[in-house]
Amino acid sequence: MGGLSLRIAHLYPEMMNIYGDRGNVIALVRRCAWRGIEVEVTPLSIGDRLDPELYDLYFIGGGQDREQMLVCEDLSSEKGAALREAVEGGAALLSICGGYQLLGKRFLTCTGEDLPGISLFDAETVGGDTRFIGNVAVRCQLEGAEGVLVGFENHSGRTRLGPGCRPLGLVLHGHGNNGEDGTEGCVYRKALGSYLHGSLLPKNPGLADWLILAALRRRHQLESLPPLDDSLETAAHRAALALARRERRRESLLGPLLGKRR
Ligand code: GLN
Repeated sequence: MGGLSLRIAHLYPEMMNIYGDRGNVIALVRRCAWRGIEVEVTPLSIGDRLDPELYDLYFIGGGQDREQMLVCEDLSSEKGAALREAVEGGAALLSICGGYQLLGKRFLTCTGEDLPGISLFDAETVGGDTRFIGNVAVRCQLEGAEGVLVGFENHSGRTRLGPGCRPLGLVLHGHGNNGEDGTEGCVYRKALGSYLHGSLLPKNPGLADWLILAALRRRHQLESLPPLDDSLETAAHRAALALARRERRRESLLGPLLGKRR
């Protein structure tokens, strides 16, 4: 696919990277390289300027409440506004867990810290007194990336979506956004939020390609991407799905004895 190039901005790579979230960027880079698409990754950290014209795709991973406080302060500078401008201008974005929470309106942590978000997503998060931990399976609602998403969640935050965005998927197993309304993640324009670590994209190649195509379309005209040999990715997906199913079976058998897992 000569002549195509993709520019990725990796936000706060050293601070927002738990459960191997940087694997998402590696998956994006490899899937582009296998197709002959030139790809460049620029790390943008605290104090770095974000030029909304420059990048096609943004990634921000998860982090602990402590790191989120520092990142939240940096995003409340012009960086947050520039990121919103980039998404409004057609850039694609993937945010995971702690990063996802900071792109909403606010995150009230379980210790009472009130972290203002950049309001890219019409979503609010409140920390609970227990954590949602475990394997997750989600029926993806995104047109062009239909199917089941698999991943691993570990968060105290409960996120509720407002009418300005829609869920990325519906939970088949696990907790997702809040453990109550059955939703997981969110979608606004070409920007996605998700609680799924894992890393998410290596074992959900359809979602990875959705992001690559959406991002390429900012500067290039193309209908679709040529398929890749995804046999390894499919095997990883199957293994993660089996784990989630096993957990669901164990909970439905032992749940009444162990109490509801949260
Ligand atoms: N600190 C946030 C929470 O616990 C996000 C955690 C994460 O990114 N895994 O909800």
